[in-house]
Amino acid sequence: MNIKLSLTTLLFFHLLFINTTAKAFPANSLRPGGIGVISVIPSNQPKPFVSYKKSPVALIKGQQNWLAVIGIALGDKPGSHEIKIKDNSGKTKTKRFNVKAHQYKTQRLTIKNKNKVNPNKKSSKRIEREYLLKQKLKKTFSSNTPKMNFIKPVSGRDSGRFGLRRTLNKQKRNPHSGMDIAAPEGRKIKATESGKVIFVGDLFFTGKVIYLDHGNGLISLYAHLSKSHVRLGQQVKRGELIARVGKTGRVTGAHLHWTVYLNGNAVDPALFIANNK
Ligand SMILES: [Zn+2]
Repeated sequence: MNIKLSLTTLLFFHLLFINTTAKAFPANSLRPGGIGVISVIPSNQPKPFVSYKKSPVALIKGQQNWLAVIGIALGDKPGSHEIKIKDNSGKTKTKRFNVKAHQYKTQRLTIKNKNKVNPNKKSSKRIEREYLLKQKLKKTFSSNTPKMNFIKPVSGRDSGRFGLRRTLNKQKRNPHSGMDIAAPEGRKIKATESGKVIFVGDLFFTGKVIYLDHGNGLISLYAHLSKSHVRLGQQVKRGELIARVGKTGRVTGAHLHWTVYLNGNAVDPALFIANNK
């Protein structure tokens, strides 16, 4: 009886342990648009500094090792890549990892507002300005350690996966940088994790948009909103109402476009919610 009970207890704690650890990290996926979770140095040593292609990368403290969580750009070539690890004494070493090729599907969309596909001169000026702003926002790197226990920000149907190669009105465009979730206008959008609001505004392509900084270069973006419920600089909690679904910007209908950036690279948001929908 006693043995049976303790075995059950052991099993319970074992499952609990697996459950909590599995949820805390995104899935390791070494492909363009994927994420590398790579052990760097033992976690009983001070936090190191790690960079990938000269950008600092996110670090989380694992049970045994410091783990670098690296965003691999959609444009990064398959093959061998390296990170640079600088420890507290200033010593630098490199560690290599292998990125595998991945075939993303093609999606053909038709946009009614032609200026959103072939912008006029005035719109082009605006797009140029906003491009620079967006570059700056996605490269934000704050020192706090990020939490990565993401939730799906809104319930709804997947209407466009990350990485899709796109044509708009039969013209080739950049691959899809986020995940589209189709949902009725006005549905609640929640913060995927705790973070700080680093931008609230209305941009040409994204429409009404919010950027959250979760720390260490982990950024999430919510686009095409009908309404925002947050202000610049506000600290939000995981699951907190931040906005409502809309159809502002370049859209075919009401949906949330959700992007996740790591070290300045858009990565597949599905990898963060694989254990946690
Ligand atoms: Zn989208």
